[in-house]
Order: sequence, then structure tokens, then C-alpha cells
Amino acid sequence: MVDLLSLVPDAARAALAEWLAERDEPAYRARQVFRRLWERPVESWDDATELPAALRRALAAALPLRRLPLSARQVSRDGTEKYLWDLGDGEAVESVLIPEGKRRTLCISSQVGCALGCVFCATGRMGFRRNLSVAEIACQVREVMLLDAALKPTNVVFMGMGEPLLNWDAVRRAHDSQPPGGTRDRGAAHHGLDRGHPAEPRQARATARAVSAGPLAARAVTGAAA
Ligand code: SF4
Repeated sequence: MVDLLSLVPDAARAALAEWLAERDEPAYRARQVFRRLWERPVESWDDATELPAALRRALAAALPLRRLPLSARQVSRDGTEKYLWDLGDGEAVESVLIPEGKRRTLCISSQVGCALGCVFCATGRMGFRRNLSVAEIACQVREVMLLDAALKPTNVVFMGMGEPLLNWDAVRRAHDSQPPGGTRDRGAAHHGLDRGHPAEPRQARATARAVSAGPLAARAVTGAAA
């Protein structure tokens, strides 16, 4: 079964076009369906009411949309929001949305726990549990948009749980999975880049350089919510 939310835009469009062609659907349906992945996300295909009911049922059966159930949401007085996502296997990760003027920076997780064990860090004290999949990383952004379209992040940083360099392939693919029109102004940095990470500062800077040179020309973030 294809997980459209794990694919880069060209691959998702191609998978959709092939699947729709097999069903003799008109080509324009691919654009309609594709928009519902990231640009105007829906909780389920049933909510994409611009599509015929039969097609929505077929999409739900063949190409279901992955969800990250929300276990907890905390909102502070300054508007910062913290989310706890249930990964379905007894594990959970957090994201934090930080509003600042017109900017909304979403800090997402890349691993459950972390192997680096920085002594000041609660995640480090958990030890490493597992890497997040592409969809588990990318869907942290999607789920926030589903909570409230007005919360759509303007920036995404990989500064939540885990060390993104140690799950680099999934982090890179999650970054690339979101098309222009979604959260475009993305960056990648980790604690070391902006807070003097004690473990791997040079590695963190190298990550930022690699991402800033990526195909979507993401901008490396050099300060928290900068
Ligand atoms: S690398 Fe980041 S998440 Fe991992 S232990 Fe250090 S501060 Fe915590």
C-alpha cells in the first residue's frame, strides 16, 4: 500500500496519476487529490468533498492518510503550544509551535529518545528508542495544520526530540516531501547550532549547510525561531 505522505511531490503525483488512470478517472483528479495531502490537508478522504463519494471511498481503501493521534495539547499564555503525538506502538513524541509576530515556528522531533545523552536534556535521559519514519516526521506539520489552519507553520526546525543527523535519510525525505505551497520556508538546525551543543557542533553546522543547499533551497536556521 502506497503511503502518499512519505513520498516527495513528484513521486506522489506519479503514484496518484497511475492509480487514478487505472480507475479511468480524469487527469485533473490528480491535482485535486494532491492538494489534499499538504496544501489543504484533510483528516480523511471523506472530508475531500470536492471528490465524488465513490472516489473518496476508493482512496480511503487504497491510499489511506496516515494520522498522528494527539494525546495532549498545552497552550501557554504567550501562545506557545506543545503537542504530544501518539505513535501507536506505545511511543510518543512532542512538537512545539512558537508564534512570534507573523511567524509561527514549529519545532518537530526526528527520533524517539536520543542516543547522545546530553546531561541537561530530558530526551537524552530517555536513551535512544527508535528513529521516526518519514511520515511520522512530516505529519507533525500536517497534524498542526489539521488542528487549525490558522496555525500553519511559517518555519519548521528539527529541534525537538532526537538528533536529526542520526536519522538523516528520513529527515531529508520528510523535508522534501512537502511541496511549495505548504510550509515553504523550512530550515534545519539542532540544539548545537544555536545553543552551543556540547556534542557535535561541527556536525550540526554541516547539516545546516547541507539542507540550505537542498533542492527546495531551505534556509538554515541559525538561531532559535530566528
Ligand atoms: S542531541 Fe538534542 S535531543 Fe539529543 S540528548 Fe542532546 S540535547 Fe537532547
